[in-house]
Amino acid sequence: MDLIFFGMQGAGKGTIGKLVAHKYGLEVFETGGELRKLSAEDSELGKKVKAIIEAGNLVSNEVVMEIVENFMKNLGEGKSVLFDGIPRKVVQAETLNALLEKYKREYKGVLLEISMDTALARLTTRRICDTCKTVFPADYKGEKCECGGTLTVRKDDNASAIHNRLDAFQNETMPAIQMYADKLIKINGEGSIEEVEKLAYEILDPLFA
Ligand SMILES: [Zn+2]
Repeated sequence: MDLIFFGMQGAGKGTIGKLVAHKYGLEVFETGGELRKLSAEDSELGKKVKAIIEAGNLVSNEVVMEIVENFMKNLGEGKSVLFDGIPRKVVQAETLNALLEKYKREYKGVLLEISMDTALARLTTRRICDTCKTVFPADYKGEKCECGGTLTVRKDDNASAIHNRLDAFQNETMPAIQMYADKLIKINGEGSIEEVEKLAYEILDPLFA
């Protein structure tokens, strides 16, 4: 069972996604990570991705889908995927779903739900390690990262940038999420990481039993 993970910025999608993937042995498809991995590869697709990035261009939806297809072709027998951060828009959802159908994948959408107020509160107070760039949630009490780096508020976490990101989620990603309405699992993301993690396992366990 593949999972397509959705969540507003601040919902903890990346963190919970990683925990869920680890728990159920899912391979994580995350566009940024996949781009970095491919551009270091000596394959045809790798060279193409590297050229686009080096030219400073955005990777088009077509190329992203080529990357998804490449990922699925190279997936080990019986392996499932957790898609993190894709699709962001309706057009991506359409092409991703066409690929999932082509490869006869079983899949569900998973939405980590938080209110706009929670998103704003978390985003304006979360901090990032200045050395390894790990993001720490608002309720993290420490002053230092495990790597020894210092935690500071992210520069792009100012109010207008946050509003723009949340608006993009509402206007572009929500319509894409609605395309999964008949196979969408909702998880309340308002609690602490530990609480949401526990809740996620309770809800997802039956899918992987
Ligand atoms: Zn660090």
